[in-house]
Amino acid sequence: MFDVSFIPAFKDNYIWLLTRGQRAFVVDPGEAGPVIARLEADGLDLEGILITHHHADHQGGVADLTARYRPQVFAPAKESITGCTHPLAGGESIDVLGQMCQVIAVPGHTLGHLAYYAPGALFCGDTLFGAGCGRLFEGTPAQMAASLDSLAALPAETRVYCAHEYTEMNLRFALAVEPENAALQRRVAAVAELRARQVPSVPSSLAEELATNPFLRCTEPAVIAVAQRHAVEQGKALTDTGKVPVFAAIRAWRNVF
Ligand code: ZN
Ligand code: FE
Repeated sequence: MFDVSFIPAFKDNYIWLLTRGQRAFVVDPGEAGPVIARLEADGLDLEGILITHHHADHQGGVADLTARYRPQVFAPAKESITGCTHPLAGGESIDVLGQMCQVIAVPGHTLGHLAYYAPGALFCGDTLFGAGCGRLFEGTPAQMAASLDSLAALPAETRVYCAHEYTEMNLRFALAVEPENAALQRRVAAVAELRARQVPSVPSSLAEELATNPFLRCTEPAVIAVAQRHAVEQGKALTDTGKVPVFAAIRAWRNVF
């Protein structure tokens, strides 16, 4: 299995660096500069790039990295990705530094969005965040809810390597949804302590997300009740309390929180 470390980019992006000896892959290089600096400093050879989706903060560095290192570029076939050499739809297995990784289609944030899973590690871009999930720019609530379901079904000990440091902000919303959730209260304190020391709150574990992330908890009675209450405050009624309408209501509330 490869080692994982992070390269900070922009204001709050994480570019994940996978290494095995001097061989390297990066996930979602939104900018090339910090990646090149790290590869040069550590004497690494960039063999491949994994892209989760087409947004510029995830693929903006691909052109420069490709020109310099000629890596394989794995990316969603459905989306326009600079220099893609291995278009993927989800369902494939790919070799990442000698480790087979599963490609999972997770439409919602964008329609071609992919997640990459190796035993113990999930690279999920802007689909699942620490205590939150991505905005629905292209997909429907039903698509995103199904995508989150497929990630939630992975082993609980899986580390969740998402692409942004959004956890603290997401936790404020999570606490508004579930003020009585003790695991959530503990996570709020733990993340505040990490962020005060400028330590990343990512990766979390899937177990932690299942216990505290409101978007994975849409069948919990407390979450359903608060979604209904919020709908009433908006002058609407949430009559269907199935997973998808509850998810849709919580996601819409998050957008204006
Ligand atoms: Zn995005
Ligand atoms: Fe992003």
